[in-house]
Amino acid sequence: MDKNCLFCKIIKGEIKAKIAYENEKVFAFYDINPQAPTHVLIIPKLHISGAPEIDDNNRTVVSDLIIAANEIARQSGIDKTGYRLVLNCGPDAGQAVFHLHLHLLGGRKLNWPPG
Ligand code: 5GP
Ligand code: ZN
Repeated sequence: MDKNCLFCKIIKGEIKAKIAYENEKVFAFYDINPQAPTHVLIIPKLHISGAPEIDDNNRTVVSDLIIAANEIARQSGIDKTGYRLVLNCGPDAGQAVFHLHLHLLGGRKLNWPPG
């Protein structure tokens, strides 16, 4: 836990968010500024600043996030129509919050390449 981290505060309930899913290792909540009909952020309960911090010591975190995302996609009814999983890494990708978060986007046709 990082005292100054927005997403750690959301996990602790200090900042309110609409919860989409939770298990022992993972927390997921609806994005405050949704870019698609379904837009959920899936985060590890452990504070990790972003995907560039993933290495051999914490590699299972990534699969925990993806397994949770797939479950949320099923719950949201977008598993058959499709969805996008996004990890923004650093300034050029527009990463604004430095607690690892996997974006789950779906419920509409998504453009490629992204902006
Ligand atoms: P990033 O650009 O870092 O990949 O994505 C950060 C995401 O967090 C953005 O999509 C933004 O809308 C979302 N976000 C920022 N602050 C809050 C908040 O307080 N609550 C929720 N639910 N989402 C937030
Ligand atoms: Zn954090």
